[in-house]
Amino acid sequence: MFELIITADKGYGLFATQDIKRGTRIIAEEPMLVLPSDVNTSSLYTYLDKLTPDQHAQLSDLASTKHVAPPTLKQSIRQRLQAKYSGAALDAAVEDSLKMHCTFLTNTVYMGPDVCFGMGIFLNYSHMNHSCRRNVHNSYNPTIGKETVHAIRDIKAGDELLTSYIHTGLLIKEDRQKMLAEHWGFDCRCEVCDGPDAAECEQRRERLQRIGEGLAVYERHDRILTNFAPHPVPKDDAQALAWLEESVGLLKEEGLAEHNLVHAYRQCSEYALKLGQAAKAMAYARKELEVERVCLGDETDHMEEGMEGAKFWIRHLEKMSEQEAVKDRMNQKREAKEQKKNDKKAAKKAAKGKK
Ligand SMILES: [Zn+2]
Repeated sequence: MFELIITADKGYGLFATQDIKRGTRIIAEEPMLVLPSDVNTSSLYTYLDKLTPDQHAQLSDLASTKHVAPPTLKQSIRQRLQAKYSGAALDAAVEDSLKMHCTFLTNTVYMGPDVCFGMGIFLNYSHMNHSCRRNVHNSYNPTIGKETVHAIRDIKAGDELLTSYIHTGLLIKEDRQKMLAEHWGFDCRCEVCDGPDAAECEQRRERLQRIGEGLAVYERHDRILTNFAPHPVPKDDAQALAWLEESVGLLKEEGLAEHNLVHAYRQCSEYALKLGQAAKAMAYARKELEVERVCLGDETDHMEEGMEGAKFWIRHLEKMSEQEAVKDRMNQKREAKEQKKNDKKAAKKAAKGKK
């Protein structure tokens, strides 16, 4: 479905070898290496020193940028290796170790929420380049123990598969460029940053950011924070829902039909529920599920177990509507009973009057 090609300006990249439909699982791969989530630059060597020659070769083949290394790293590597090497051999060992550190830090993927499954290196996924308008969604799926990559829109044969190294949906260009330059050492020239409609993209993302900031303040329910917020804050739940619906439109226009859209649909559903619009809440939950499936596929047992995800939310809404229906039925019964009682009373009164 894809091939690894060396590009003119970005090193390796993955390219579609056939047309790929939205929602298709393009990659499902196990990590070649997993390290615990608490590993840091001063403990990383204990793991890198244990790599097999094959793993060493595989890791060496991936892109590496020195921007990810803290300035003191080279010195600490040298100090550690001094006991074992000297002269030119020491210099070579330091360079090799530094490269392996940087390669790991450049390519590591956080597995699961809060890195709960560790940090992994995935040989296919690690070759994927960045775009601020990615065409795939990647995620570690603990139910199947693999990193999955799904097409979030139709991809044509020959197109490059592009992921996002940052959460681009709510960041403006300046912030995105800063993060990418600092952590990955490149100036992004993607269609969103430099394409013909870059100005409109920027406007949409600015608005998305403002909406996000306004909602974050609104949900704190703090009058002082609201009064001093630098940007507008929704005045009530109805306006919050209207802003979220605007977000959904902006995300779609921006081609960000991935986790940002899943999240926006969920928020729409929650606000609709707060406003007593149960049918609307369910409609948004179903939209959330549709996009979630596109991004993650259907094997999401881990999310249901964690009481997360759209399927769980839909079941919650269904239960609530069942409870409401039971309540309605009980109310109707009580009212009917009351009515019967009143009718009886009235009939008795009428009968008395006749006498
Ligand atoms: Zn970009």
